[in-house]
Amino acid sequence: MSKKSIILVTGGSGLVGRAIQEIVLLEKRTDETWIFLSSKDVDLCDYDSTKKVFEKYQPTHVIHLAAMVGGLFHNMSHNLDFLRNNLKINDNVLQISFETKVQKVVSCLSTCIFPDKTEYPIDETMVHNGPPHPSNFGYSYAKRLIDIQNKAYNQQHGCMFTSVIPCNVFGPHDNYNLESSHVIPGLIRKLHDTIQKGGTTFNVMGTGKPLRQFIYSLDLAKLFLWVLREYKEIEPIILSVDEQSEVSIKELANEIAKAFDFTGDIVFDTTKADGQYKKTASNAKLRKYLPDFEFTQFSVAIKHSVDWYRQNYKTARN
Ligand code: NAP
Ligand code: GDP
Repeated sequence: MSKKSIILVTGGSGLVGRAIQEIVLLEKRTDETWIFLSSKDVDLCDYDSTKKVFEKYQPTHVIHLAAMVGGLFHNMSHNLDFLRNNLKINDNVLQISFETKVQKVVSCLSTCIFPDKTEYPIDETMVHNGPPHPSNFGYSYAKRLIDIQNKAYNQQHGCMFTSVIPCNVFGPHDNYNLESSHVIPGLIRKLHDTIQKGGTTFNVMGTGKPLRQFIYSLDLAKLFLWVLREYKEIEPIILSVDEQSEVSIKELANEIAKAFDFTGDIVFDTTKADGQYKKTASNAKLRKYLPDFEFTQFSVAIKHSVDWYRQNYKTARN
């Protein structure tokens, strides 16, 4: 990166944005100015307000995290909103980054946008190889278009717009609203509520059989900074834990129960959807660049996340 960078982070108040804030604070680099935006600063669905924010801060670099984000059940009931909001946000951020001559944009895709019917492990070349899982097609197609836009901005205007593909993320400052949350914050909130009420049954949705790779938000934040500073490709890069670290929802529920010292019953509600069975992604490309990167041990990261919620549940996003 050139000297005196101004880095604008959209979605800076969310799960991933707060983790990047924490890692940036630890590093204390003097040649970088960081600006973290939330939806209170600007509605990125609106072109004029977005343009004003870019003109105000004049970023040289953008980490684009802002999105309508949610777990399986929120996606299933709001595919149109996920599609339209994310299309608008992404188009405004990328077009205005081009218009204001931003040097580099790193946007965020997700392993859940990959084709539903596919070979495993999934890699970066397979993003567009077939329809996504029907549960989240709105979010998936909006996200896939970021990759298409990045290639088009590069081809037509020479822009350095790239993207990363994280697996499922978890950590402090997640969304704990039971209507819209992902599985880890959802289960942490539920078990916390159960224990507070003196309950002895931990209810988990679905069969517990689906498999997921989970990355700790602070690990992802470190990788984001590496991508921003070092990664030179327009093609996306998967930011995921290793394939061997994939766990079932049942194993996850056991780990959360352990972190709470909960010894009651764990019950699976098989009337609820399982979603995609698995989306096992290869991190071989990342490992080629960073062979020695160490991911936080899953049980340690779950314990930190549970302890954070216990201490902050009164002010957490519920
Ligand atoms: P999050 O916690 O829900 O945060 C979303 C962020 O976007 C918040 O800062 C929110 O602002 C902002 N935002 C939403 N709509 C906006 C709008 N119209 N205008 C301005 N800002 C808006 O999400 P996250 O989990 O950190 O996700 C960050 C990125 O990672 C997203 O692009 C997501 O698709 C991707 N990703 C997430 C996961 C995961 O498991 N969480 C996995 C793979 C990829 P407020 O705080 O003010 O609402
Ligand atoms: P996904 O990885 O994109 O499917 O999103 P989620 O983070 O929402 O994970 C969904 C998986 O966790 C499915 O297999 C659900 O059946 C299971 N699950 C179990 N309990 C919950 C819960 O309380 N909330 C959510 N979102 N999923 C749950």
